[in-house]
Amino acid sequence: MREESGMSIPRRYPLIFNPRARSQKGGRTRQFLMEHANRFALYATNTGQEAMELSKKFADEGEPVVIAAGGDGTLNAVVSGLAGSHTALGVMPAGTMNVFARELGIPQNSLPKAFEVIEKGFIREVDLFSANGSPFVQMAGVGFDAMVIEETKWESKKMLGPLAYLLSAVKILGEKPPKIEVISVDGRRETGVAVLCGNGSLYGGQFKLFHKASNFDSMLDVIVFKEAGYRLVLDSLHGIALGGIDLCSSTSYFQSEGLTVRSNRPVPVEIDGELLGRFEEVVFTETCSRLRVLAPEEPCGTPFADAVKSLLQWPPKPYEVQATKTL
Ligand SMILES: [Mg+2]
Repeated sequence: MREESGMSIPRRYPLIFNPRARSQKGGRTRQFLMEHANRFALYATNTGQEAMELSKKFADEGEPVVIAAGGDGTLNAVVSGLAGSHTALGVMPAGTMNVFARELGIPQNSLPKAFEVIEKGFIREVDLFSANGSPFVQMAGVGFDAMVIEETKWESKKMLGPLAYLLSAVKILGEKPPKIEVISVDGRRETGVAVLCGNGSLYGGQFKLFHKASNFDSMLDVIVFKEAGYRLVLDSLHGIALGGIDLCSSTSYFQSEGLTVRSNRPVPVEIDGELLGRFEEVVFTETCSRLRVLAPEEPCGTPFADAVKSLLQWPPKPYEVQATKTL
């Protein structure tokens, strides 16, 4: 708690960061924080758990804003701590991907600009979903992509860069995939070998995987990969390396307010790119509150622009039956 004193001390934003962030941006972030240290109450955390507990403490104390400075891992921990509270999240992107920042149009290559967004104080409320009770803002994966994250060690990432993920992918694709069943709350059933859920449209950097998704529609966009798709990926790594392959025929895509994923064996699960653990059953559901995020009023990112456009068109026009044209 803040102690009252006779001096007028400007309010500082509690800011949570990982001092051991290894990305190149980590160094620049620390420099920025030092140069603006009089604006923040800096909390260097050791673990995600600590970042989450600290954020929760600030939320419980009624802090209006808590800033997460770091990559998607730090962000996810802070989001978990703020879930269900009125405290707004400030984002200072400092990771390599910054998927959520991109989605909301928060400047990700300029910390001064990202800080300006926080100072402006415009708040957007985004959907907050959870996987087995752990909240996530952007996306989650069951099976393949979580296995790749689990398999790829930091040392190999440092040595090989993105190639490290590709090597892990090759290894995993050579193993027998799990059998996964997906049951959505509206009764839809699908089977496959891996599942991705998107709250926003972006996955892994700028890749717009969930083409219909929006952070504001109370829906998860779900992609179920069929076994054929697994084989296709394995057979087509060359194609992926050259910029992607068409997976449409071996995936199903649907939107749902919630779903349960069951696997024939415990499989890794990731949320917002962070490994959550291994589970045989994962329940995805919307949390009872939305997350308040300090974001630009007019973002530059196209996915966000699309989302805003769709909001402006709400409620949608009733389906119009086109009269047959006679020429
Ligand atoms: Mg959504």
